[in-house]
Amino acid sequence: MEEVDRIFHKRPDSLKKRNEIIKNADHPVDMEINGFLAAAEDGDLKAQHQLALIYIQGEAVPQNFAEAEKWLRKASEADHLPSKRELGILIASGSVKGKYETEAYDLLIGPLDRLDPRSVYYLALMYENGKGVEKDILNSIRLYGIAASLGYPGAEEDYARVEKAYTEERHAILRSMPLLNLEISEDGIEAACCKKMFDVIVTGDIFFIDSYKGPALGGMDEDGRDIVLNACPFCSAPVRVIEKKK
Ligand SMILES: [Zn+2]
Repeated sequence: MEEVDRIFHKRPDSLKKRNEIIKNADHPVDMEINGFLAAAEDGDLKAQHQLALIYIQGEAVPQNFAEAEKWLRKASEADHLPSKRELGILIASGSVKGKYETEAYDLLIGPLDRLDPRSVYYLALMYENGKGVEKDILNSIRLYGIAASLGYPGAEEDYARVEKAYTEERHAILRSMPLLNLEISEDGIEAACCKKMFDVIVTGDIFFIDSYKGPALGGMDEDGRDIVLNACPFCSAPVRVIEKKK
């Protein structure tokens, strides 16, 4: 949990830069804050967002999540995307209490449609840990993968970490099952039909596909093209889709 909180509280470089500018400013910091405050009170969305970031960072002023929340909520009401994202992260991290159970999810899921890497990454974290959303490891892996492909720092390592743990867990389940039926569920491959099939699943040559059509089993044909398997190529056992085991 501590590790999760640490990740949640990671702050972007842009904010560091912002604070350096403030620190190195020729005029007093107070004036800089007051400038943002005046603009924020005038309804300037960017100023409201910046002011909130300054309160979150807590370097130029003492850290104050309540003040940050106040300004982020104002800007979010006007659909300011970076503010919605920041507010979602504050709630997901527990620094600020959401107005309802899934508020963090709702704030972050919007930007996901527009593929904001940071929002995608935090959603992956939420799915991994079951924070503000039902725990869903496959979804978490998928989202870490998207965040990594968008270049979000650290996402690739998280993807590899969660994917490895998931794969090991699935292999342990397979090992505990008799070699009898070829079964898959929404969670992955539940049982193998024969030793040969077990071996190719462990090596990854035949693998689980979480497709929009539902769970499936994938592999390659002789020409190296991806195919969906309906039956075991070794013993001809049919692929059966079953309910999640848990
Ligand atoms: Zn088989």
